[in-house]
Amino acid sequence: MERHVNMNEISDGKKYKSNDMVKLGCNECEGCSDCCRQVGNSIILDPWDIFMLQKNLSKNFEELLGEILELHVVDGVVLPNLKLRQNGEGCVFLNEEGRCGIHAFRPGFCRLFPLGRLYENQSFVYFLQTGECKKERRTKVKISKWLGVAPLAAYEKFICQWHYLLKEIQQAAKEMEEQELRKWSLYFLQEFFVRPYDTEDFYIQFEDRYQKAKELSCNVQGK
Ligand code: SF4
Ligand code: SF4
Repeated sequence: MERHVNMNEISDGKKYKSNDMVKLGCNECEGCSDCCRQVGNSIILDPWDIFMLQKNLSKNFEELLGEILELHVVDGVVLPNLKLRQNGEGCVFLNEEGRCGIHAFRPGFCRLFPLGRLYENQSFVYFLQTGECKKERRTKVKISKWLGVAPLAAYEKFICQWHYLLKEIQQAAKEMEEQELRKWSLYFLQEFFVRPYDTEDFYIQFEDRYQKAKELSCNVQGK
């Protein structure tokens, strides 16, 4: 989720790359599951997250919807987010021990926390949100290890492409007539989330869909 904030107020003021060591270690969240509770619809999922859920739970998008996911509109574009339990008990994947039931294939948003990403010049850097995790005496961990995604370079390229494509579409959405916006939003949802990904190489499949969407976006904006 994009936020417009003063970096000096929410971070240690430093910018990091994936090889940097940052005070992230929290003893594997021993006894705490705060960031899996009362998060509303803020855990927005991207195509990689959906690919991982589909692959590991052997369910298609429609099957995930309702059970695990819900949809909401973010700046004119329909996006999926993780569902919370009705009784205020947090994320549907939080188990009785207060641990993540899908740790190995948890969404990128969950992997990142309490890091954030600062996007600039068609790229991004990481920053540490200092007020988010309440654990004290945190240990230094390399960001790449914290994220636990391999190959990280391909993942980071995808993250960047997705962010800027989304931004472009959201920007264009402001100028669109209602009917055109509905058509675009449906295309976006269908192409990047509903249409299943093969279980192997996500990045090749994403690249193909991304290039087509970029082309369409340029045509719509008359570039
Ligand atoms: S608040 Fe910190 S310690 Fe608690 S679950 Fe989140 S990251 Fe782990
Ligand atoms: S997917 Fe796992 S880490 Fe993410 S909010 Fe749910 S329980 Fe927490």
